[in-house]
Amino acid sequence: MPESTVCLTFDFDALSVWLAYDRVTPAMLHRGEYGARVGVPRILRLLEGHGIKATFFVPGHTVESFPAETESILAAGHEIAHHSYAHIDPSGQTREEERGDMERAWRVLDRLGVIPLGFRSPSADMSESTLELIEELGFLYDSSLMTDDYTPFHPRIGDRAMRGVPLERGREARFWELPMCFELDDWVHFQFNFDPYRKGGAPPSHVLELWRAEFDFMDANVDGGVLTYCLHPQVIGRGHRIAMLDELIGHCLDAGARFERMGDVAERLG
Ligand SMILES: [Zn+2]
Repeated sequence: MPESTVCLTFDFDALSVWLAYDRVTPAMLHRGEYGARVGVPRILRLLEGHGIKATFFVPGHTVESFPAETESILAAGHEIAHHSYAHIDPSGQTREEERGDMERAWRVLDRLGVIPLGFRSPSADMSESTLELIEELGFLYDSSLMTDDYTPFHPRIGDRAMRGVPLERGREARFWELPMCFELDDWVHFQFNFDPYRKGGAPPSHVLELWRAEFDFMDANVDGGVLTYCLHPQVIGRGHRIAMLDELIGHCLDAGARFERMGDVAERLG
């Protein structure tokens, strides 16, 4: 059976994810800065220790606010991919606003010398236009949808879905979808917040149990499966969580998994 692939993806949102909230306080922004100040260096050390490469989805706002930290990711040989400029949920934007934000982020990455191969939508949500824009901008892959779990696919563009009427299928997109899911997203399990309220605070042993079981199931049942973990430096960077990630990586490596950048997976798929 072909070996399993694991993609570690880090959404380096820093301040941008907090700035997108309706009510923003200075303390919230400092929580975001933790990702740049502590999270990224700690993650880079962990990845280097295991000799593996990963994908970082970096909003343009983060690239411009934390250039040294962004450069350190590139210098270590990791992939930097597109994650919008301002991390605003596109489902509330007009098509022009969404396109303008995506093009601004593209220009920021271009100045860094990066031509992004992939895109992840802010908050993993989309507008009616998002999939079309991903194709128009020429991305090789997207990683925002949960239609599948271990198998890359071409998402449909132009579906029509309404109450009381069966699904009308659109056409297949040219780009690959490397599916993600909230169960394998550290923000969902760990991130506490007062307003808007989020419980967070899961014990790492609990999350490790879920995340390991997902890998084990794929490894036992799916030929050449690809598993995506969605992580945030400001969340996974805490000591007790980075120790859990260390253990998870070791578990997957022991089972013979290969860790790949998403861009490499998409290029391999053709
Ligand atoms: Zn994000």
